[in-house]
Amino acid sequence: MAGLRHLKLRRAAVAAAQQLGPLGLNRGTSGNVSVRAGDGLLITPTGVPYDALTPGRIVWMDLDGRYEGDWLPSSEWRFHCDILRSRPDLNAVVHTHAVNATALACHGRGIPAFHYMVAAGGGQDIRCAPYATFGTAGLSANAVRALEGRRACLLANHGLIACGYTLNRALALALDVETLAAMYLKALEIGEPVMLDAAEMQRILEKFATYGQPPGRARR
Ligand SMILES: [Zn+2]
Repeated sequence: MAGLRHLKLRRAAVAAAQQLGPLGLNRGTSGNVSVRAGDGLLITPTGVPYDALTPGRIVWMDLDGRYEGDWLPSSEWRFHCDILRSRPDLNAVVHTHAVNATALACHGRGIPAFHYMVAAGGGQDIRCAPYATFGTAGLSANAVRALEGRRACLLANHGLIACGYTLNRALALALDVETLAAMYLKALEIGEPVMLDAAEMQRILEKFATYGQPPGRARR
């Protein structure tokens, strides 16, 4: 473990990855998390079960995708790098195949303003990025575009991305997005739900900005 830089952030990345299962956000090892560290990022490795994750197995990469160490970064490293490079307002990225968000994304549908908590994603709706093959620059470009003015998006026929100023906030937002997707799918069972109008969503966004984040959520 000699020379293990960013130990605190590495531990935080392990803890965040290991919470994905218990929070109901992921099964197996398909999810991945990253956090900005110095002039690069730390990201979960590919193919390592979460219970076998250790700080030393978290991979450091620069923002152009060069990695160091013996462990290969997550196969989705491209969008983690591209999001953190293009968004100085964000420091952490969580990606999962959470069931409800993914079910919606498999219809190419995002989450419209059916509930005020949709504003937790940073805008009037949570978009669904068009499909592209996993791990490709095309998927990354689609994700970065869907995240414009937002902190979360769905990925068509794939899953979700939630970002934050900290790993804990990104994790909390991933849970919000998955919960909203479950509510929206449930609401759709008896028809299209009533939508909040743009002016109301703007009021909510302003309230969230005032509080720094949605009410009831502990800081960090
Ligand atoms: Zn994925």
